[in-house]
Amino acid sequence: MGNMTNMVARIPNLVDWSTGEARLMSRKCDSCGTYFFPREHYQHRPGCSREGVKDVLLPKKGKLASYTIQYYACPPPFKTEKNITPYGIGLVEFENEKIQVAGIITETDLKSLKLGTEMETTILSMFANEEKQEVVTWAFRAVK
Ligand SMILES: [Zn+2]
Repeated sequence: MGNMTNMVARIPNLVDWSTGEARLMSRKCDSCGTYFFPREHYQHRPGCSREGVKDVLLPKKGKLASYTIQYYACPPPFKTEKNITPYGIGLVEFENEKIQVAGIITETDLKSLKLGTEMETTILSMFANEEKQEVVTWAFRAVK
C-alpha cells in the first residue's frame, strides 16, 4: 500500500484501510446469518425477517475458490497507470462467512496459484486523480 492518508476509493464503501490493513466492507444479517458484498447487495435467505443487519468487515484472509489469468488490459472504466497484464482474477472464499468475492490478483506469481491458496485482501493503486490523490480499489494476493 502507498501513503494511506492520500488514498481515495474508486467506489466508496467497498474496502476499508483505516485500521492499517485492507478489509472488505460487508454487512451481516443477524436473522439469517448472511453476509453481503457489496454491502448494499442484500440477498437474504428465504423467509428471513431481515432484522439486525449491521456493518462488518470481512476477515483479511480467505481461500482461492476459482481464478483465471488475463493477458489483455481490463476494459474501461477500469484503468491503471501501470500496465498490470498479465494479471489474475480470482474468486476468494471467506469460509466462515460463506461468501465469495471476486477481485484482481496482484503481487503474486500467477503460476503458483492453486485452488485453496491462502489469499489476503490488499489495496491496488489505479491512478492519481486531479487532486493528486491515489485512486485505489481492493485486490487479492497470495499470502507469503
Ligand atoms: Zn437476513
